[in-house]
Parts: sequence; C-alpha cells; structure tokens
Amino acid sequence: MAEASHNYTLLKADRLIDASGGSTIDGAALLISGNEIAAMGRQADVRAPDGATVQEIDYGDATILPGLVDCHTHLCAPGDGTPGDEISKEDHQILLLQAAKNARTILHSGVTTIRENGSAGSTTINLKEGIRRGLAVGPRMVICGRPLAITGGHMGYWGSEVNGPWEARAEVRQLLKEGADYIKITATGGSTRTSDPNIASFTVTELRAITEEAHNHGVLTAAHCTSAQGVQNCLDAEVDMIIHCEFNEPDGTTVERPDLVERLIEANAWVNPTLHVRRAAIRATEDRKSEGAFSKDDQLALDNQYRDLDSRVKAVGGMIEQGVKMVAGSDSPWGYYAPGEFVFEMEMLTQAGLSNSDAILSGTSWSAASIGADNVSGTLEVGRSADVLVAGGDPLSGMPALWDVRDVFQAGTVVQRGIK
Ligand SMILES: [Zn+2]
Repeated sequence: MAEASHNYTLLKADRLIDASGGSTIDGAALLISGNEIAAMGRQADVRAPDGATVQEIDYGDATILPGLVDCHTHLCAPGDGTPGDEISKEDHQILLLQAAKNARTILHSGVTTIRENGSAGSTTINLKEGIRRGLAVGPRMVICGRPLAITGGHMGYWGSEVNGPWEARAEVRQLLKEGADYIKITATGGSTRTSDPNIASFTVTELRAITEEAHNHGVLTAAHCTSAQGVQNCLDAEVDMIIHCEFNEPDGTTVERPDLVERLIEANAWVNPTLHVRRAAIRATEDRKSEGAFSKDDQLALDNQYRDLDSRVKAVGGMIEQGVKMVAGSDSPWGYYAPGEFVFEMEMLTQAGLSNSDAILSGTSWSAASIGADNVSGTLEVGRSADVLVAGGDPLSGMPALWDVRDVFQAGTVVQRGIK
C-alpha cells in the first residue's frame, strides 16, 4: 500500500470486471493512488490508509472496467468515406491535425490504448510524441508508422513501398529507427486504386525477411490479408496477426479454406476480422437511399453489401466456433467508420458468436495481448497504470452499455471530456 501522503481516488460501482477472465465483483471499489491502481475488490474490503485524503466517486449502477484496447486504427482518416487514395493527397500537417482530433475522440469514448495500423509519413510517430509531451490528448499508442507495401500495393501511398527481401529488411530497420513498435504489412491489395484485394502482394521470401527482421528486434508483425493466398503466405512467414482474414480467390469469389483455419489455430495466430467497417459502409448507402435518387444499380450494390456482410459474419462465426483467437480492432476511422465508435466492432463480434463476456475480453485483455501490450493494458491489476473506463449499466448484458461512458481515467487522472 502506498504512503498516506499520496492522492487517492476511490471509485465505487455496482460491478467491476477486471478482464482477467475471472468473475465479476459485485458492490465493487477500485482505489487509485497517484497514477496506479492501489487496490480493488468488494467495497467493504477496499480503503485508503488512515489519514489519507480521498476523493470518492460512487457511480451506482455502473461497471468499472479496464480502458478499452482497439487493436486497429488509422488516425489520419476522417471516417466520412473519403478513400485512402484521396486522403494521401493531403498535406501531412493537416493529417497530423486530423489524427490528433481522432485520438482525442477515441480516448473520450473509453479506449485508452490503440494500435495504429498505418498513416501517412511520420504523422503517428509525431502524434505519439506529441501526446507524450502533453501537446495533444489521446490514448496510449502502439504504432507501426507506415505499413510495408509493394510498389502500387495497398497503402503504399503512406510512404513505405518496398520490393525484395533486402529492401523490405531495410525498411523494417528504418521504421524501428523512427520509433515503430511493431511492423504492419499489406500482404494483399486492398481499397488502394492500384492494388487488387483478391491478389497476394509480397512473396513468401519477402514476408519471411520482414518477420525475421521484426522478430529479431523483438517486435510483432501484423498483416492486412483479404485473399486466401495472402493468408497462406503470412502463415508460411509466421506473421503474428492476420487482419481481415478473408479467403478470396483472384477471380473475386470467396472460398472456404478449412485447411487455413486449421493452420491459424495451430499457429496460435490472432485474427482481427473488422466487421463493422462494412456495416458502416452499408449504413452510409442506406442514408443515401433515404435521401432519394437511388437507382436500380445502387439497390443491387446495396443488396451485395448485405450479402457480403452476412457471409463475413458467418465465416467469422465459423472460425470462432473452431477456436481461432478473435480480437476487436475497429479499422476506424477508415472508410465510413467514425472514430470513437469501437463498441460497434465489439457488438459485431457478439453477432458473429462471441458471448458478451468474451466480447469484453476481445476489446480489452485479448486485444492487449494480441498487440504485446498486455503488460500495461487490457486488465485491471494492482500496481498497474490506472487506465479505467466506468460505463453505465452492465456490459455483460450487452455491448450497448459501453456507450454510456461515465468517466475515463488515464494513468489515474480523470479525462476532462467537456460533457457531464
Ligand atoms: Zn486497416
């Protein structure tokens, strides 16, 4: 127990979920000393040392949780449907301001840790440093800087196009020198105009060079994969996280690949399926429809979007059933997925088959483990930085409870959100 002269904050709520996988504590209290969690448990058992000054907040019907962990963001994007090809034409100073605005929104929503999956140039490297210096407000950031792409490949416009194993190794070293915490790879094409999402990009030799170099430096790797061949290549190269994990063929058809699902389980790889980003695009189309001037072709395209989302949810559900490790990562503010709405992705994972309690873990402790941040984030533990979300109601009865953000604490200090 820390000394009595420290500042203490005592949070009380009807429930506490520490996200370690154990049971909920009813009638709970969490004691913050300075920037750390000093104690937690039942209200009768948690108290500050005698004589200490304690600020007490009783939230009543609410739940104390670890700050959420979103393992997939793109802070440069506005989240209004602007394509990446267009965003990449913006001045990087504008993109840095956009990123700072998004980081603040994300923190205010209860997400205290993010893994940034790739933005322009040095924007997120500078934002992370700016947050450290108190120049901007935002969550703890695990950054890649820029994703590695082949020439013309997905997100190559951010500035790290490489070809061949040695160029790839050199860029890994460069990114680590600039401050990258992990290495992101676009192993297939994507929405980038000059790329094809159904076709693998890097060869296995190139991917092996990247993962070997990253692992040699003790950092993790994650790859955008929207084709079956891309997933297979990444498994061959021992990539740690498979993002999207779609089994598309070069002709655009989607196939079942039980062999690859089996390999994902054997490899103990994390999968970040990014479901809501599709639903957000559907909702944008529905909005357009409600405004009128919606053609027959538009309707056909919308029907296709519905079918695609449905089959994605089923495919992810199948993987969950077979034991693939699923984590929540929003992909926001990419496409139409506005920042600060991470809860939508956790909710989509429940639609795919995760229980409410597992969905909470997918957005806290599992997500933290998947990005190598489980030593600082994702669970409530005595001695840890007090990154805490207090949400109204009970998320075990459904993810929407997490929309009701009562308070967010970052390293023991309440985040001033300007709304009460
Ligand atoms: Zn992404």
